[in-house]
Amino acid sequence: TSYGFRNVGAGDKQGLVNEVFHKVANRYDVMNDLMSGGLHRVWKDAMVAWLNPPKRPGWKVLDVAGGTGDVAFRIIDASHGNAHATVLDINGSMLAVGRERAEKRGLAGKTDFVEANAEELPFADETFDAYTIAFGIRNVPRIDVALTEAWRVLKPGGRLLVLEFSEVDMPLLDKVYEAWSFNAIPRIGQAVTGDGEPYAYLVESIRKFPNQQNFAAMITRAGFDRVTFRNYTGGIAALHSGWKL
Ligand code: SAM
Repeated sequence: TSYGFRNVGAGDKQGLVNEVFHKVANRYDVMNDLMSGGLHRVWKDAMVAWLNPPKRPGWKVLDVAGGTGDVAFRIIDASHGNAHATVLDINGSMLAVGRERAEKRGLAGKTDFVEANAEELPFADETFDAYTIAFGIRNVPRIDVALTEAWRVLKPGGRLLVLEFSEVDMPLLDKVYEAWSFNAIPRIGQAVTGDGEPYAYLVESIRKFPNQQNFAAMITRAGFDRVTFRNYTGGIAALHSGWKL
């Protein structure tokens, strides 16, 4: 099978993304492990280590595109159970899995689940100490709008962390990675959900996402200071950091 990529506009883009995650919600965590060879765990742990949440109560994080709660649970654990996490996602099916996982882990009291769009956050200005988003921002049709919203809901002194697939900067690894994403990923999607095409679309969205430097510039344009990034696994993933000062 070959997966032709349909060229989609901003409006259809969100629809296609929603379709993928509704379909896969129940198997999302397994799928993540299969598609990243378990690497997403390493990258998320590195993200949480860089965030280094304080081990005292009263600190609040907003995890956008938080899906099944993976990043939020790691942050609460790293804070020794002190942090409060709001998991926001546009997709109710993903959030339902997250809520169930929170209950199983005894974290229901430390988490909120909110169905909303990253482009229009239903929170007052200066609400959160940190804003995190992992493998979500490239799915948002208007990234600049999402970043401006992030800046708005952060308290002064608040921190933005964005984990996303990025530009591979290692010879050979880029070839292996390309073969993996264009062949293996849609096939895994096909095998697990019965449809590979939405995955071909997600892979294409990685190629279209701005590289490390250009994304750092977008974050700066949204108002953030001291913007820096770190590459993981030769740039397959990158973690960007910025501060609202
Ligand atoms: N952060 C989780 C993780 O790393 O495991 C989930 C990442 S998943 C690849 C992408 C998530 O982005 C999906 O749950 C999807 O519903 C969500 N999403 C897509 N567009 C969104 C938007 N405009 N606003 C909020 N969430 C969105």
